[in-house]
Amino acid sequence: GSITVQELAKRLGKTAAEVIKFLMGQGIMATINQELDIDTAAIVAQEMGAIVEVKEEKPITLLEDQPDDPETLRERPPVVTVMGHVDHGKTSLLDAIRRTNVTATEAGGITQHIGAYQVKIKDRKITFLDTPGHEAFTAMRARGAQVTDIAILVVAADDGVMPQTVEAINHAKAAGVPIVVAINKIDRPDANPERVKQQLSEYGLIPEEWGGDTIMVPVSAVKKEGINELLEMTLLTADMMELKANPDRPARGVVIEAKLDKGRGPVATVLVQKGTLKVGDNLVAGAVYGRVRALFDDKGERVKSAEPSMPVEVLGLSDLPQAGDIFQVVEDEKLARQIAALRQEEHRQEEFKAAAKTSLDDLFKQMEAGEVKELNLVVKGDVQGSVEALRAALEQLSTNEVKVSIIHGGVGAITESDVMLAAASKAIIIGFNVRPDANARRAAEEAGVEIRLYRVIYEVIDEVKAAMTGLLEPEK
Ligand code: GDP
Repeated sequence: GSITVQELAKRLGKTAAEVIKFLMGQGIMATINQELDIDTAAIVAQEMGAIVEVKEEKPITLLEDQPDDPETLRERPPVVTVMGHVDHGKTSLLDAIRRTNVTATEAGGITQHIGAYQVKIKDRKITFLDTPGHEAFTAMRARGAQVTDIAILVVAADDGVMPQTVEAINHAKAAGVPIVVAINKIDRPDANPERVKQQLSEYGLIPEEWGGDTIMVPVSAVKKEGINELLEMTLLTADMMELKANPDRPARGVVIEAKLDKGRGPVATVLVQKGTLKVGDNLVAGAVYGRVRALFDDKGERVKSAEPSMPVEVLGLSDLPQAGDIFQVVEDEKLARQIAALRQEEHRQEEFKAAAKTSLDDLFKQMEAGEVKELNLVVKGDVQGSVEALRAALEQLSTNEVKVSIIHGGVGAITESDVMLAAASKAIIIGFNVRPDANARRAAEEAGVEIRLYRVIYEVIDEVKAAMTGLLEPEK
């Protein structure tokens, strides 16, 4: 914080001239509109005979979350995202899961799509995010929202591990989210589940029967086989995580999606993470505020409230929030409105900044300041051989101060998905004989992710090493 000379004088009951004169006596040349930092101002005030009391200023725009007393925590359902390679059956699996719980009479009513749904199994619930794929998952994480507790990785038994399977594994690992594998399409005559297990173990996912700790369930999304077992195994994984939340507090959670409805105005699907969201609550969601006019569950039925891990549609917002925005219930509407306005202003400023999370140029500075302990890299190359060579060489650069980790390595152009992963993990992208596509370039600019392109392996190694020792020539 800071204070102008004029304001300080006013608070001290003196004229600005008196304060300026005093400052000059201390060797500080100041003008009437000069900003003094709080520490300087406090010293000046004290010297000039005032009693200084420093109040902690709480930035209301952040709305820091209060930790909950462990006593108040209750079990909550796990939130699950389905990931995997295109055409391996993510959408089919989400459909099959949704239908396991639906009675014949309800079957007509499940066309409702709100971005997430809950299924019940043996009196317990599981929440599924209805947008398959790791892109949405990581886009949310890049915005600061960790929503998913468990990832279900779908691998087609006839096709095996494919590039997006590997991406999904790395995205889940980077987020620290446990993986349950669904080996899908086991009804196909050319299905080869053993080969899938073999391939997955090359990526550190070792099935339990081989002494590892990754649960792998054979399923057929189309024939609806193995679905219950997959759900039970998901609950078992959740049990080990002890997922809990306090239901008796003002709600807080994440916006899953939002759309403008002709008749109903802005409609947002939110996932409650803590507390209970009720009709009549005032809330802020990102830069948007509102008062909850109505809530609808995943079957389109009106509900009065939503508990932790429950997805609901919210009516009554002033405008459309963005997917990944945090929402929070606040006491009164006026405060909600103020916070939303402040955030809008912040958003505008951030758009100009696109603050670089980590750049090789100032890595050393950040290391010295103790801000980075880990240098995360995403490495894309033209052939598998060079990606592996780079991975090995770069990881060897790790020192006691900074660990170099390759959170994702792959063959092909740098994509938007790579950028999202880098943004979420504060990573730098290294391109070796490959370039970013247009979407990736735009996304990198927006998110402030650094992409560095090379044609010679030793140059990559040299530059990373130089950056880590503070000897990198700054880029012009
Ligand atoms: P996504 O791209 O991962 O969402 O995959 P989809 O769910 O769209 O499935 C891709 C194709 O695989 C579709 O033609 C599905 O009918 C088919 N498919 C999905 N699951 C199964 C399965 O268990 N068995 C068989 N035989 N086909 C499946």
